[in-house]
Amino acid sequence: MKVRTRVAPSPTGDPHVGTAYVALMNYAFARKHGGEFILRVEDTDQARSSAASEQAILDSLHWLGLDWDEGPDVGGACGPYRQSERSGIYREHVARLEADDNAFRCYCTEERLAEMREAQRRAKIPSHYDGTCAHLSADARAEIEAAGTPFVVRLRIPKTGTCIVNDLRRGEIEFEWSAVDMQVLMKSDGMPTYHLANVVDDHLMGITHVLRGEEWISSAPKHVLLYRYFGWEMPQLCHLPLLRNPDKSKLSKRKNPTGILFYKQMGYLPEALLNFLGLFALSVAGGEEMMSLADYVAQFEIDNISMGGPVFDVAKLDWLNSRYIREVLTPETLLARMADWANPADYLMPIAQMAHQRIERLSDIGPLAAFLFSGKLAVSAAELRDNKLTAEQQLAAYQAATVAFDALPDWTMESIQAALREVSETLEIKFRDFVRVFYLAIAGSAHSLPLFESMALIGRDMCRFRLRHAIGALEAVAKSEA
Ligand code: GLU
Repeated sequence: MKVRTRVAPSPTGDPHVGTAYVALMNYAFARKHGGEFILRVEDTDQARSSAASEQAILDSLHWLGLDWDEGPDVGGACGPYRQSERSGIYREHVARLEADDNAFRCYCTEERLAEMREAQRRAKIPSHYDGTCAHLSADARAEIEAAGTPFVVRLRIPKTGTCIVNDLRRGEIEFEWSAVDMQVLMKSDGMPTYHLANVVDDHLMGITHVLRGEEWISSAPKHVLLYRYFGWEMPQLCHLPLLRNPDKSKLSKRKNPTGILFYKQMGYLPEALLNFLGLFALSVAGGEEMMSLADYVAQFEIDNISMGGPVFDVAKLDWLNSRYIREVLTPETLLARMADWANPADYLMPIAQMAHQRIERLSDIGPLAAFLFSGKLAVSAAELRDNKLTAEQQLAAYQAATVAFDALPDWTMESIQAALREVSETLEIKFRDFVRVFYLAIAGSAHSLPLFESMALIGRDMCRFRLRHAIGALEAVAKSEA
């Protein structure tokens, strides 16, 4: 049987390095075995999914050099590859589960479920559906439905016994069925949940191996059951350990930038970033770690995937990246990379527009736009400090804005401006004064190119990175001022 793997990102935010890592593992495994690699967009959460996020994810994976054989942008025999375009398929499959009594309709209202959860919380038992609708008589159901009551469809779970999940790296993992929740498979709006769509699609797309993050282990019993109910063979599973911060906590943007676009904006080369992610599944202890994607694929083995939390060590990435620049690029190819990085159409044109009415000589552009070609800015606490605000206020401004930025669905000049305005009102700081401290943190100067446009251009993660630096620098000052 031909090996077929997939990466199945949910387009609910900025492209994440974890997605790149999972994609690389699936890519390498498929290529190593002469198989196929598929990209599927899991956008069943319509409220949180966006076309912009999907585009950014596809673009970043392409930028890294990971090409898929089938996907929403390249087509293929098993399409559509976007789950929002497959609802008819899921409805048919839910009907099949219901007809075999492997799933049931649940009419519980949100209020009832909230009360149930609250009671479970008070009783200190794990939150789970209590089965109220699991055994309604046909008459009772008909009566409820005649009233037009909305419903979800839930998975029937065996009452007793255990479920064995086979994992290629972890072996057999045992779960008590009693600890598995009666998962919602289809929401009241007729949209499937992740579990149903994921299983149906993996089967219909002929996926043979699923390499995915370990946060999905607890979902695996539900998937085992769905495959059993449908009478399908289950793909082989391999749960990959989550990437970690250097302090071993789960990689999070609070401590480390996690966006692929951040690393792109910082000027890491895609092959260096990919090589770096590949090191989490490399056997050569003490051997050469720098290798092409083709060489990586040739040596790839699932058994080499490191199971201890792989640390996303930026110092190591820096080391690899500098080697790529010095050892692989020539001055000519470096120039080509620089031109690609500061892409005229996407990056230089907006800068020209911003600078147009603000410069006297072309040479003014250097100092004016330097912050748009930088990573961390070398601004000291003294340079950051703006005396119109107390240090405490300035710190609060940065902190509240960081939280507000994370919550923005889209990162545009308008959304940035609106978020800053709202935070300034909440903190009761005059907008002018408020904005000035952001000029200092983001551009390193109170006089620079327009702030909101510049922030949109350098990206959310780069802004967060500079604000984090500013917060760190000001914390000490705020303490001493207090
Ligand atoms: N959509 C899921 C994610 O974003 C996919 C999980 C899986 O691979 O099964 O992680």
